[in-house]
Amino acid sequence: MGLRRAIEYARSHRQRFVSELKDFVRFPSVSNQPQHARDVRRCASWLAKHLRSIGLERVRIISTSRHPVVYAAWQHAQGRPTLLIYGHYDVQPPEPLSEWRTPPFEPVVRDNNLYGRGACDDKGQLFTHVKALESYLKTERTLPVNVKCIFEGEEELGGSPGLETFVKKNQSALRADAALMSDTRMLGPGRPALGYAQRGNIRFEVEVRGPRQDLHSGNFGGAVHNPLQALCEIIAGLHDSDGRVTISGFYDKVREWSAEEREYMQKTGPKDADILRDAGVPKEWGETGYSLYERITIRPALTLNGITGGYQGTGIKTVIPARALAKISIRIVPDQNPLEIDKLFRQHIARVAPSTVSVRVRTLAASNPALVNRNHPALRAAAFAYQKGFGATPVFLRSGGSVPAASIFQKTLGIPTVLMGFALPDDQLHAPNEKFHLPNFFRGIETSIWYLAAAAKLGKVGEEAASQKEWRA
Ligand SMILES: [Zn+2]
Repeated sequence: MGLRRAIEYARSHRQRFVSELKDFVRFPSVSNQPQHARDVRRCASWLAKHLRSIGLERVRIISTSRHPVVYAAWQHAQGRPTLLIYGHYDVQPPEPLSEWRTPPFEPVVRDNNLYGRGACDDKGQLFTHVKALESYLKTERTLPVNVKCIFEGEEELGGSPGLETFVKKNQSALRADAALMSDTRMLGPGRPALGYAQRGNIRFEVEVRGPRQDLHSGNFGGAVHNPLQALCEIIAGLHDSDGRVTISGFYDKVREWSAEEREYMQKTGPKDADILRDAGVPKEWGETGYSLYERITIRPALTLNGITGGYQGTGIKTVIPARALAKISIRIVPDQNPLEIDKLFRQHIARVAPSTVSVRVRTLAASNPALVNRNHPALRAAAFAYQKGFGATPVFLRSGGSVPAASIFQKTLGIPTVLMGFALPDDQLHAPNEKFHLPNFFRGIETSIWYLAAAAKLGKVGEEAASQKEWRA
C-alpha cells in the first residue's frame, strides 16, 4: 500500500491543517437562521474552492430547495470500488452566546482542543477525510479507490430535508459501494465505536381544537370538553401499563432478534446501570422483557416531546383554552415502515378522538431505520483502519438515534454507511464551547488514510455509472 508517504505528509502538515480548519469554522454557516443564509452559501463556496485545490475534480455547488450540496469526485481508480464520503458544513445556532468562553466563530486552540461552533460537528470531522484525500493526492497523485464527496448544508435543519430528494434524483450518478461519514461519537479517548444500526424517526404534531376562543372556566367549566384535557387523555392512552404502545398493529413488523445477537449486545453494549446513570433517573421505565440498551435500540418508542395549551404565564388564569398542541415522535426499528406507522398512528388518533373536539395530525418528518451487517467488508475495513489510526479495536454499537444520511443511502442507493466517529463525549456538540480534540483530528486523518487503502479491497458496483454532467436539484 502506498500510504506511508501520505501518512508522513499528514504528519508534517498538521499546523496548516489546523489553520485551514479554523478558516472553515469562521463561517457562521447556521442553516436554520435565515439571517445566515449568505454565510452558508459563502461557506459552501470556500469548501468547493478548497476541494478543487487539493486535487478533487468535478467540483460543483448544487442548489437544493434551501442550502446547497457541495460535490467533488475523483474517479481514476479503474476497476476499484467507489466510496461516497458524506459530511455536513452547516452548524447549529451558537446561542446562548454569553456561555461561550471565546466567541463561537472566532476559533481558538486551548489545551490541544480547537474551540468553535462546528469545530467537531461536523466541520472538523468532515475535514479529516478531506485532509486524508489531500495527503494521498499530493504524494501519490492517485487514490486507492474512486471517491464521490457530498457535503450538505441542511443536516442541522433536522432530517436533512433536501438530501433525500437530491440523492433520489441523482441516484445513478451517486452509485457507490459504501458510504463513509464521521458525525458520531467515540466512547471515550482511545475508545472508538462503529455504529451498525440506527432507529428511524417520525415526527408528528397533534392539534386539538374546541371552542372558537378561550372560555371562562367559571361560566363553562364542566359543560365543555377542554381541548387541553382531551389531548392529555389521548396521550395518556398511547401506552399501556406495561409501557407498550397501544396503537393496534404497531409491533407487527418489529424484527425479533436471535439469542446470539442479543447476547452480543449484552456483551458489548451499555448496562442498565450505565443508562440509568447517564439519564440521571432512579428507576427504569418501559417495555418489560428487554434490557434498557435493547429498549433504546431494537425496540420502537413513542415519545411526547412537547405540549402547549392554555395559560403559561405567572399566577393563575381560569381559562378553558381554545386549542392544545402536542409534539410526538416515534422511533422505529427494522422492519417497521414509516408510511405504515404513520397510517396506523393516524387511524389510532381518529379512533380515540372524542366527538367533543376536533383533532388534526400533521406529519413533520420521517426517516427509515438503517442497519448494516456487522460483518460487512466495509465495516471490517473500518475496524482495521481504526486499529491502525487509534491503536484500538472499535466496538460495534447500535444507536437509538437516527442518522438521516445513513438511512437515505441505504434505502436509495442500497449501500451500507460506515459511521466512523471522532467526537468525544465531552466535545459539547450543539452546546456552548463546542470543541474538537486535535489529537483526534490527527488520528482521524490517519484512520481515514488507512480506510481509503483498505476500501480498495471491497467489492465494487461493476461498471462506473455513466458520468452525469447535469445535477438535478
Ligand atoms: Zn452533525
